[in-house]
Amino acid sequence: MALIASHIHSNLVDGALRVSQIIERAFQHGLDLIIITDHDTTKAFDQLDIFLFNSGFIVETTKSTYKIVKSKQGKKLIVVKGCEFTTFPSTSKHNPEWGAHLLGIGYKGKIYSFEATLPTIKAIKEKGGIVVAAHPLFTDFGGVGKDFLLRYSKYFDLWELNGMCVGPFRHYNEELLELARRYKKPCFPGGDFHFELLYFEGFLLETDTEIRGNPVEWLKRQINSSAFNPKNLKLEELEYSNISKMVFNLGKNYITFKLLSQFGIRNKKKAGIVWD
Ligand SMILES: [Zn+2]
Repeated sequence: MALIASHIHSNLVDGALRVSQIIERAFQHGLDLIIITDHDTTKAFDQLDIFLFNSGFIVETTKSTYKIVKSKQGKKLIVVKGCEFTTFPSTSKHNPEWGAHLLGIGYKGKIYSFEATLPTIKAIKEKGGIVVAAHPLFTDFGGVGKDFLLRYSKYFDLWELNGMCVGPFRHYNEELLELARRYKKPCFPGGDFHFELLYFEGFLLETDTEIRGNPVEWLKRQINSSAFNPKNLKLEELEYSNISKMVFNLGKNYITFKLLSQFGIRNKKKAGIVWD
């Protein structure tokens, strides 16, 4: 069994936690593998290198894109390198500068953001990575949109059920899960962790098997396993996991403010977000 958290943002972009805090918290939550995917940058891994160099952890790194971190107690945490790419054209009428968002996981080498969507997908695959459509139906926050998703379905390894799509946005996950079941498309619960209190509080993936060998190759083999089968993913459990409880406990106004300020959107109507 392995517990995985994906789609994690650090404070180098619009997340709340420093890279070192993300590692600490991942150990606290007993995670086995985390995937850091900042927007359009991989600077988090430079910070990780510095943090690990100065830490007491035993670290095994490889020339490829992942690092293996062991705590003094022998607990192992694997950190997989990723990036959330902004690509174009945008599908959003309201926030065209948001582009379309793709997660590239475990690729080797350098890939540039702000390029066209299909070539970026191709680059991630050619460099050995996994391509995930991030919050694909949530077009105002960078989803590729339903038309693109279905038209180019085979290019995506995974569709993401997204941790931001709770509360007023839950219909994006509901519709996506329905589509995934219809088209038999593997799905991935991505936390999209940004807010301090919500890191790793839900939208985690539990696999039946333990991580063996190269973590990225292992992940690829898992994609067709039952853990990623949309038939086995229950939205109720995802939606009403701790994350949405915490969202509701924090109160709608707080979350509205955090969401809007985080994404730099001042005008709710302009952003097409309807809050009652
Ligand atoms: Zn994200």
